[in-house]
Amino acid sequence: MKNVLIIGGGLAGLSAAVYLSKNNMNVTLVEATHKLGGKTYSFIDENSKYEIDNGQHIILGCYQETIKYLRVISAFDKLKIPKEFSLNYLLPNFKIHRLKVSGYFYPFNLFCGFTKLELMDLDDKKNLLWFLLKIRFLDTEKIDNLNVKEWLELEKQTNKSVEIFWSVLCVGALNTSIENASAKLFCEVLKKIFWSNNNGYKFLLTENSLNDTFIRPAETFLLQHNVRIYKSEKVENVLLSGYEVKSVFTNKRKFDDYDFYIIAIPYHSIESLNLPSLKNLYFRHSSILNVYFWLDNNPFVEPYYALVNSEVHWIFNKGNYINITISNAGKFIAMSKPEIEEVIKLELEKFIPGFSKRVIKSIIVKEKKATFIPDNQTINKRPSTRTSIKNLFLAGDWTDTKLPATIEGAIKSGRMAAESVINFQHY
Ligand SMILES: Cc1cc2nc3c(=O)[nH]c(=O)nc-3n(C[C@H](O)[C@H](O)[C@H](O)COP(=O)(O)OP(=O)(O)OC[C@H]3O[C@@H](n4cnc5c(N)ncnc54)[C@H](O)[C@@H]3O)c2cc1C
Repeated sequence: MKNVLIIGGGLAGLSAAVYLSKNNMNVTLVEATHKLGGKTYSFIDENSKYEIDNGQHIILGCYQETIKYLRVISAFDKLKIPKEFSLNYLLPNFKIHRLKVSGYFYPFNLFCGFTKLELMDLDDKKNLLWFLLKIRFLDTEKIDNLNVKEWLELEKQTNKSVEIFWSVLCVGALNTSIENASAKLFCEVLKKIFWSNNNGYKFLLTENSLNDTFIRPAETFLLQHNVRIYKSEKVENVLLSGYEVKSVFTNKRKFDDYDFYIIAIPYHSIESLNLPSLKNLYFRHSSILNVYFWLDNNPFVEPYYALVNSEVHWIFNKGNYINITISNAGKFIAMSKPEIEEVIKLELEKFIPGFSKRVIKSIIVKEKKATFIPDNQTINKRPSTRTSIKNLFLAGDWTDTKLPATIEGAIKSGRMAAESVINFQHY
């Protein structure tokens, strides 16, 4: 039985551990913090005793790797699968427009849904739908030096469709503006969302918290498969002998005599491991801000709303409280929490008159380095699973998964690293 040491207990590390232990490998996982899950986590709010997520995570029907992982750890039933898709656009003064797509006759249902959306004119919709159709057959290599803005202009997308549809989708999926985002990666994402299966575009929300869905069931699975998990133990150094890892040192002990090592930590933490071949992994990062408001008399009835032309991108309705999500949130990170609360309340007043007076309590979660920015330069320098060090593999949402930094990307990277180990042959 081969011994594998995994460094990092985020979704990438967990996914690698799940697939390796399922394939009878002897797995040890080391995580620097007191908890597993990395950027996908929940915490207990001491006042309300609710388990709150560090931010709303949208899982899409096209997340095939995620669905497979959840099935393996027996947690698939923790996702809510909607029969039909509906997206509510919230406009000023609490006006709501709905994009509704029935559950039948895919892809015609998609086209019908868009046709009925009143927010756009006939020309906007005609161009948008034609473009959506074209994307299915598009060779992404042909747009590999464009950003999303340039691509949309080339494809004659109207200002309104950019504002109401493309920007919302790009910022939500890639966590960066249409000016920054790589057209090639966005196109890959669109192919998956709209053309991979008839549920690809649906939002699969979690029944309970992220911990309850992704982390606790994974930990149970790993313990049942005899995986040793060391938390609050930071890997500080990796010692090489020639082109092989010989030992790994944490702040508490030394691990050696492992056959394989998987590093599943963020790109900005790798520098500290003193591995010459993995130096200078510099990616620009983008932030995400989540604000939770407990309201006196919550006016929302639908599970989520998209806001157009607003600093606030999404509102998720959790019944007892609402979750405001802002992607590409760099400007908020330097602000104090009271300042952020004031700005958001002022913004939301336009959409929900009298909003500020309803707020009973708030929690603000800033994630400064939430994702890397997938511009054209960056996507071309993402490292692959294999490294120049024979028995060392990489995983993480930033590695070359051909996906943006998402749950799906992290889980895929872990599965790829596990498969590389399982299929390893000396070369
Ligand atoms: C607020 C927010 C909202 C998001 N929303 C979405 C969304 O809607 N949909 C979506 O699909 N994705 C979303 N994401 C992205 C998703 O959360 C991440 O892509 C995914 O969690 C990354 O997993 P990972 O394992 O690659 O990295 P990480 O989660 O960063 O895990 C790395 C782990 O390595 C550990 N580590 C670091 N250094 C060491 C060391 N020296 N020794 C040992 N361990 C170490 C860390 O503590 C961490 O646990 C969101 C992210 C954030 C922050």
